[in-house]
This record gives sequence, C-alpha cells and structure tokens, in this order.
Amino acid sequence: MSFGVVEGGPGEEFVSAISGHPFSQVQFTSERYPLSQVKLLAPMLPSKVVAIGRNYAEHAAEFGNEVPDEPLIFMKPSTTVIGHGENIAYPTSLSDRVDYEGELAVVIGRLCREVPVERAKDVIFGYTCANDVTARDLQKKDVQFTRAKGFDTFCPLGPWIQTDLDASDLALTTTVNGEVRQSGRTSQLINDIPALVAYVSAVMTLIPGDVILTGTPAGVGPLQIGDEVSVGIEGIGTLTNKVVSRD
Ligand code: MG
Repeated sequence: MSFGVVEGGPGEEFVSAISGHPFSQVQFTSERYPLSQVKLLAPMLPSKVVAIGRNYAEHAAEFGNEVPDEPLIFMKPSTTVIGHGENIAYPTSLSDRVDYEGELAVVIGRLCREVPVERAKDVIFGYTCANDVTARDLQKKDVQFTRAKGFDTFCPLGPWIQTDLDASDLALTTTVNGEVRQSGRTSQLINDIPALVAYVSAVMTLIPGDVILTGTPAGVGPLQIGDEVSVGIEGIGTLTNKVVSRD
C-alpha cells in the first residue's frame, strides 16, 4: 500500500508509486503498475473533513432554505471516508432516507491557519470528487448535522487528487444507476474556494490531507440499497460507489 502518481492518457493510465506521502518532495520508487491492476483507496487520510452547507442557491431553495449570510460549516468525522469503488453502508435500522450530495472537495497541502483569501491557492494541494452522503431524516430531526452526516462510509472521496487544475468553473455531474440527477458548475458556488479556505482556516488549523467539501448543487435525492452512485467532475474524474445495507 502506498501513494502513487497517476499518469498517461485515458485507458492507458499507469500508477508510479512514491515513497512517503505526497505533500512534500515526491520521491518515485521503481514500482509502476497499470491503473487497471491497482486498487484505489481514498486518496488521503484527512484529520478532518470540513463541509459547507447551502453553498449553491438552487440547492438551498430546493429545501426551502435561505442562503446563509456567512458560510455554514459542519464536520464529518475522518471515519466517514472511503475511496472509489468501496461501498456506502446504508444504516437501515436508523434511517429511512439517505441522500447523495455530489461535491467538489478541496485537499489542503500545507499546515496553515488564518490564510488570507489571496494566499489560499498556496495551501491547496489539489481537488477530488466527493459525495457528502446524508441521512436526511436524521438531519431534519436533530438540531445539528453530526449524526446525519457522520456514519461510517458517508464520505466517499476520489478516485484521486488532481493537483494541476483551475477549479473555478468545472462541470459537476451526479448520476444514480447511470441517470443524471445533479448537474452544476463550480462557478455557481456562493462562497468561492479561496473564500472557503480563508473562512475555515480562520477557525481551525488545517493539516495536509484535510478536506473542505464545497457544497452540493441542486438535485439531491435518495439512494436505495443496490444503487450505484457516481460523482464526476470535469478535469478530475469520476468517483463511483455502490450502496449496501449496513444491517
Ligand atoms: Mg453537502
């Protein structure tokens, strides 16, 4: 098990293994594998996942919510994180409504706090696809989001981190069993990526590998056991996970 760099064109990608973690100087080993022979794990082990609620106007409106004056932040425990191809475990005994939320995830690359907006790009390592899986019934019932957003497997991330990308206007598409359910662009973010990095880091120190989920566009909806849900983002790739029963 190691980190690696994905290289090569579509259908011909290979993975070059690196020693250590990818946040400082990358040291390649001699190991190189076709991507098709590699099991991808979540591309980072975040100390925390900080998520933003209601950061697309149309999504706020679909639940009758106002757009907040300031970014609405909540956290998902690190134990929610799974990678591409791993299963989302539906907690059937505790929830009757589990939703997908396709989102762009920002991956932090440097230890930082109180990052000014204009320096946000210096602390961003890259971007990946995320699914902010949510037990919607529990979110409505509880005063806050911890239980609804915090089940094990409720934060698929991947398939990898794209490090060389302008993320300010990317198409984001969520499909369930191949059918398009969400279609948005990151240019519709109410609070943009530099603003979110500044806002979150004004509260808490961010550590390499920490993740900021930037919010979901309109079109969220329920998942059923057996569904296959994919979050695809232009310039990054597609994160796919199946839904299984936990109980
Ligand atoms: Mg969300």
